[in-house]
Amino acid sequence: MAIATVNPATGVTEKEFPPHDAAEVDERIGEAHAAYLALHETDFAQRAGWMRAAADILESEADELARIMTTEMGKPLRQAKAEALKCAKNMRFYADHAEGFLADEPLEDASAVGASRAYARYQPLGVVLAVMPWNFPMWQVVRFAAPALMAGNTGLLKHASNVPQTALYLDTLFERGGFPAGSFRALLIGSREVEAVIRDARVTAVTLTGSEPAGRSVASIAGSEVKKSVLELGGSDPFIVLPSADLDSAVATAVTARIQNNGQSCIAAKRFLVHAEVYEEFAGKFAERFRALTVGDPLDESTDVGPVATASGRDDLAELVDDAVAKGATVLAGGAAIDGPGWFYQPTVLADLTDEMRIVLEETFGPVASLYRFENRAEAVRIANQTTFGLSSAVWTQDAEEEAYFVRELQAGAVFVNGMTVSYPELPFGGIKASGYGRELAAEGIREFMNVKTVWKA
Ligand code: NAP
Repeated sequence: MAIATVNPATGVTEKEFPPHDAAEVDERIGEAHAAYLALHETDFAQRAGWMRAAADILESEADELARIMTTEMGKPLRQAKAEALKCAKNMRFYADHAEGFLADEPLEDASAVGASRAYARYQPLGVVLAVMPWNFPMWQVVRFAAPALMAGNTGLLKHASNVPQTALYLDTLFERGGFPAGSFRALLIGSREVEAVIRDARVTAVTLTGSEPAGRSVASIAGSEVKKSVLELGGSDPFIVLPSADLDSAVATAVTARIQNNGQSCIAAKRFLVHAEVYEEFAGKFAERFRALTVGDPLDESTDVGPVATASGRDDLAELVDDAVAKGATVLAGGAAIDGPGWFYQPTVLADLTDEMRIVLEETFGPVASLYRFENRAEAVRIANQTTFGLSSAVWTQDAEEEAYFVRELQAGAVFVNGMTVSYPELPFGGIKASGYGRELAAEGIREFMNVKTVWKA
C-alpha cells in the first residue's frame, strides 16, 4: 500500500511520501535507542514539563491538525478537533500522575519474606514499537505515547499508511515540547517491514492497535523474540436495552454510539439488542434518526457522517450488508453505497438477522447498525457474547439487580451502564477474547511496558 494521503471524501491522492529505506529505519531506531538512554538521566518533573509544553503546542495547533486528520481519513471536522484536544488532556493527565502511578510499592510486612525491607520498583523497558490504525489517528498514538514517554520509555511509530501527515506531525511533537531528539520517531514503512523492526535487538516491546489478523501476526513475531506485546483489536460491542430504560435517551445515545467517527470506532456499539417489550418503539425511533442523518463533506460543520476511510473499507461494509440482505435481513434505513466521488455509505439499520449471516459475527466498520430482539436477559447475554470479540459493552436499565447481572455476565473489557462506551485517560481500556490483551490508559496503561523490579533487603 502506498504511503499517501488519499482524501476519502473525493478519492483524490493529495500527497505521497517515499517510504523510509532500511538505512533510514536503522538510523531512526538508533535515535530512539539513544533517546531512551538520555531519558534514563531525567526525572518525572523534567519529563512532565516537556509533556505539558507539548500539550500546549498541540492545543494551539488543534485547528490545523484537525483539518489534516479529516483530509486523511474523513472524520467530521469537529470530531477531529475534539480528538486533538483530548490528546492534550491525556498528555497532561500523565504529566500529573505518572510519578504516583510508578512510585515504589513497599511490601508492608517485609518480615513475612525474611526481609527488613521489600518493595517493587517500576522501571522502563526501552524502545517500544507502536503499530497504529488510522481511525483515531492522533488519539490511538498519544494514548500510548504519553504514558510511555512519562515512564522513560521511547517510541517508534509505524502508523497506518493512509495517515502519513498525522504520523509526521507526531514525529516532532514531543521533541518540540523539549524531549530529547528521537524520543518519538515515525517510521514511514509498510506492514511487511514491521517484522524486522520487532526483531531488532534495540526494540524491546510492541503494541498494536488494529485488526485481528495484524494483531496475530505482530504478536507471534514478538512471541518468537520473547518480547512483550499489547494488542488492542477489533470489537462488535453490544448495546442492550431493557424495558426499564429511559427509551428516548437510549435511542439518542445509541445513534451517537454507532455513527461517531463515521461508524469506524473499535468501541462503537455495533449490535443493538432490545427487549421485545420495547423493540418496536426503539427500532422505529432509531431508524428514523438514522434516516435523518446528514451525510456529506466532513469539513462541513453540519455533517453528521462523512465517508468510509478507504475504498476497500467501503467494499467490505457493502459485502456484509449485501450478504445479510440476500439471506433475508430487513433494511430499516439505508442499505447501499452512495454514488459519486469519495467512499460514502448510507447510514444503515438492519433487522431480522439470523445466525448464518456474516454480520452476526463479524465487525462492521462503518455506519451500519444491527438490531436484535430478545425475550429475556439470558437470551440477551447469549447474543451479546456470541462473537469472538470482547472489547466493551453497554446496558440500559433502571433495575439494580438487572444491572448487576449484566455487569457480571458480559464478556467484555468494559460495561457502560446507561451510557455509551468512551475512552477516558482516567479509566483502563482494553479487551478480552479476540479483542486483544493488555490495557491502555489509567495506571494499568503506564505499567504495561515496565519492568516490575522486586527489591529484597536482608
Ligand atoms: P489494520 O489493517 O490492522 O491496520 C492497523 C495497523 O497495522 C496499520 O498501521 C497497518 O499498516 C498495520 N498492519 C496491518 N497488517 C499488518 C501486519 N500483518 N503486520 C504488521 N502490521 C500490520 O487495521 P485498520 O483497518 O487500520 O483499523 C481498523 C481495525 O482496528 C478495526 O478492527 C478496529 O476495531 C481496530 N481498532 C481497535 C482499537 C482498540 O483499541 N481495540 C482501536 C482502534 C481500532 P498499513 O496501514 O500499512 O497496512
